[in-house]
Amino acid sequence: MTVDIRAVSCGMIQENAYIVRAEGRGDCVVVDPGDDYPKLKRALGDLRVAAILLTHGHFDHILAVGAMAAETGAPVYVHPDDAQMLNDAGKNGYLDLMDGAAMPGPAVDALALGERLNAAGMDFEVLHTPGHSRGSVCLYLPGEGALFSGDTLFCGGFGRTDLYGGSQRQLVESLRRLFALPAETRVYPGHGGATTIGAEKARYRL
Ligand SMILES: [Zn+2]
Repeated sequence: MTVDIRAVSCGMIQENAYIVRAEGRGDCVVVDPGDDYPKLKRALGDLRVAAILLTHGHFDHILAVGAMAAETGAPVYVHPDDAQMLNDAGKNGYLDLMDGAAMPGPAVDALALGERLNAAGMDFEVLHTPGHSRGSVCLYLPGEGALFSGDTLFCGGFGRTDLYGGSQRQLVESLRRLFALPAETRVYPGHGGATTIGAEKARYRL
């Protein structure tokens, strides 16, 4: 199977949403629709959204979720440890950044991500990688050698641990776990450009 992965940069923090589609199919999975639903809609075109997967509960990864779920009827999945953040502007960071403004859009109703998820003809392995938040996950497509790393691992960096639910100790453990994946694994982070496990692993002594 070949999977087509398209990044859509969303909102003022330039969060990466990903449209992930198995070749030849008319449906797709959207990872972290962070903001700007009209832009995401244009990028989707005629593709049907089969599921919305969240790497974690921070506001910059979820602002378009309510509108997208309401319009498409797609189920939303998040790790249970971050579920409480979705509709809590204090815990998901929105209040701090937006100076007390209320979060826009309908409330988000999410299902619990387990260890695997099959959607739109793709089998995602869900790696629980806490540290940036308690319920941070990386979504892994082993057959494709592709990993959606959220804010856990970036090209040339890793997630901050000073926000609600963050833990430096856990983040180090999570990075060790990711660095055990095949070196050629392509990494698609929540911000910035793509990289590989091998390139990132070479930067650190863990
Ligand atoms: Zn984050």
